Order: sequence, then C-alpha cells, then structure tokens
Amino acid sequence: MPTLANSLSETINEKINKIKKSEIRAFSHKISQIPGVIKLTVGEPDLNTPEHIKRAAIDDIARDDSHYAPEAGKKEYLSAVSTYLKNSLKVSYDPEGEICATVGVSAALNVTFMSILNPGDKIIIPTPVWGVYFGIVKMAGGIPIEVDTSEDNFILTAAHLKKVMQNEGKGAKAIVLTDPSNPTGRVYSKQQLEELATVICDYNLFAISDEIYAELIYGDKKHYSLAQIIPERTIILSGLSKCFAMTGWRIGYIAAPREIMKTIIKVNSFMITSVTDNVQIAAAEGLQHGEADYEEARAIYESRLHIVQAGLEKNGFKMATPEGAFYVFARIPEKFGDDDVAFAEDLAHKAKVGVVPGSYFGAGGQGFVRLSYASSEENLNLAIERITNYVKDSLNN
Ligand code: PMP
Repeated sequence: MPTLANSLSETINEKINKIKKSEIRAFSHKISQIPGVIKLTVGEPDLNTPEHIKRAAIDDIARDDSHYAPEAGKKEYLSAVSTYLKNSLKVSYDPEGEICATVGVSAALNVTFMSILNPGDKIIIPTPVWGVYFGIVKMAGGIPIEVDTSEDNFILTAAHLKKVMQNEGKGAKAIVLTDPSNPTGRVYSKQQLEELATVICDYNLFAISDEIYAELIYGDKKHYSLAQIIPERTIILSGLSKCFAMTGWRIGYIAAPREIMKTIIKVNSFMITSVTDNVQIAAAEGLQHGEADYEEARAIYESRLHIVQAGLEKNGFKMATPEGAFYVFARIPEKFGDDDVAFAEDLAHKAKVGVVPGSYFGAGGQGFVRLSYASSEENLNLAIERITNYVKDSLNN
C-alpha cells in the first residue's frame, strides 16, 4: 500500500482541504455500526427502479449503444426532458441548446456554480438546506450566505430576502432554492414564488431552482417553478434519483436560457465528456412513460408521512407540516434541550433509531432532527415505537 510522500501531502489543494465532508454520510456511517439500528438518515428511496426503465437500459446495451454521447446529452433524453417540462410546468425549453444531461443533480449543481461563479462571488442559500450545497459552492470559489428561514416556518419570504440583499448578501450573484425542500419538506406556493421573483429581479440574481423532489408533493399542494415566472434568470436543476428510485444511476438535467447553457455545456463536457448512453435512454423511458410509477411512489410516501408525523407529534416533537420530499424536520421536545447532535447520538445508541442532527443543515437547524421516511412502513412503525419508549423512559428519569 503506497503512502504519499510527506513533501507532497503539504501541497494538496488548500481550498478543498478546508471544506468539511458531508456530515450526513459520516453520521450515518457511524451509527451503522450499532447492532439493530433502524437508519432513517439517508435520503434514498427504499423502492426499486421500475421494470420498464431497467428494460430500456438493457435493450440499449444489447444494441451496442456504447460510444461517446453528444456533450449536452442524447437527443432521446433531451427531447424527453423538454416534453416532460412542457407537460408538467408549461415551460418551453429547446432540446437543442437549452437542456443538458448531467450526472445527477449533484453534478448539475457543480456545473452550474462553476459556470456562473467568479472567485469570491456570494450565493444566497436559504437554510436549513441539504448541506452538500456549501461544499459545492466553496469548491467553485463562491461564498455561501446562509439565510435562516426557521422563523417563517422554513419558507424564505420576499421581505427577508430583500433585507439580506441590503446587508450580508449585498452584491450576491445567485440564490439557490430547493423546492420541495430537503430537509424540511416545505413547498413554496405560487404567490410566495412570485413575491420572491420580484426581489430576485430587483437585485439581479440568477435563480438556481433545485426541483429534484417536484414529483413528490402531497395533499392539495402543487409544484410551481420560478421558471414559470422568471425564465430569463432561472436555471432548473432536476433528476430522476428520487421520483424513480434511481439514485445509483446518476442522472439529472439542467434547463436554462441558451446564453448561459452554452457555458454550462462547456463545463459539463470538460467534467464528464458525456453521460452514460444507456442511462440516458432509460431515463428518457422514465420521463415519457413513468407517470404511474411516481404516482404510486407518491401515494406510498404520503401514507408513511402520516405515520411518522403523527407518531412524532404524539411524543412532543413539533414541525412545520411537511408537504413534499420524504423528510420530516422535527423540533426535539423541549426537555431534551437544543443539542441535536447529542440527542441524535443518544437516540441511536439507546433507542436504536438513526436520525440526522438538524444543525448539519445549516443555520436554523439547531434543536431539530431530520427523519427520512423513505423506509418500509414496518421500519417506520418500529422506529416510532422505539422513539415513544425512549421519550417515556427519559420522562421517568
Ligand atoms: N438536491 C437535493 C436537494 C438533494 O436532497 C439531493 C440528494 N440527497 C440531491 C440534490 C442530489 O441528487 P442526485 O442523486 O440527482 O445527485
């Protein structure tokens, strides 16, 4: 096993060295060692990729479709994305030049930030948020400006954004909105987006809209996109990981005006050359013929949400009602205090239930925990039973 020369270890990229690794994954890994623990930590569907999508990939491999794809993506996939966006959001993106295939939304975020950021540019990030954003922004040379939305039930209001833009966010280049949100499950209404859009225009921001959970919205709530209001400054990022249980396939897309898309496609091609052929063909199949799949997934997640929300509220956890994605972000009952890391560790060891400390999601997350309900109903019921006993035992002590 080689050991790096001492003289070289001093020379590794300093900027990257300073960035913290994903705390969610590290925490999840740590508690995995606890025997019998039910892990509700990672944002990964427990369902499997639908058969017709897998079949499309297998057939494509059998056809020897195994050469470099065009750098923006294969025609079949780009057209499927374009049609999908037209049907779901009534927005129009030309498959030629306004859409780019990416290696998941993770790479879409990297490509987008690299395309727009100059060193030292600020990016507005409403928090709590999927913490990986911070690392990606910093890698691209940007400065994340965290905006704590906890006072407003985890919705960034136009007034709050305006205040930030006049103070710590002065001169920022972009805002990233996650809608529906990981970790809070909150969903923006059309009116809230319209109000935000006005401020976004007033301060000349790019709107980077991470819509990876768009298909997973519950009750009467509906998905709207900033792209319907301010398409001229919106960059849509989305993918198939969550709605089609395709996290391991690594497939997503970016849709944006042609002028910025030129730069995005350039960065994407330097980074990955092109996305895997058969994955794009499978994803096209999903987008074209997969509505029933995500409708089914949505119904499953919605019934699980009710189990988890009711079970936690009964035990004194409080939350702004989640409306989408597959997370609840719950305030720890008062008697446990504010230390969410200590709480999550104790819960993992004593109750054998793994949840993620809220402070890993940035400002406003302290005192909260995130539970992913992308887990079987059986697991969720057992987890709630264990949490109930844990809370009861602590009350008696
Ligand atoms: N954005 C958000 C808000 C997420 O929660 C995740 C996954 N946890 C991603 C992006 C990454 O998705 P992908 O698998 O497409 O890279």
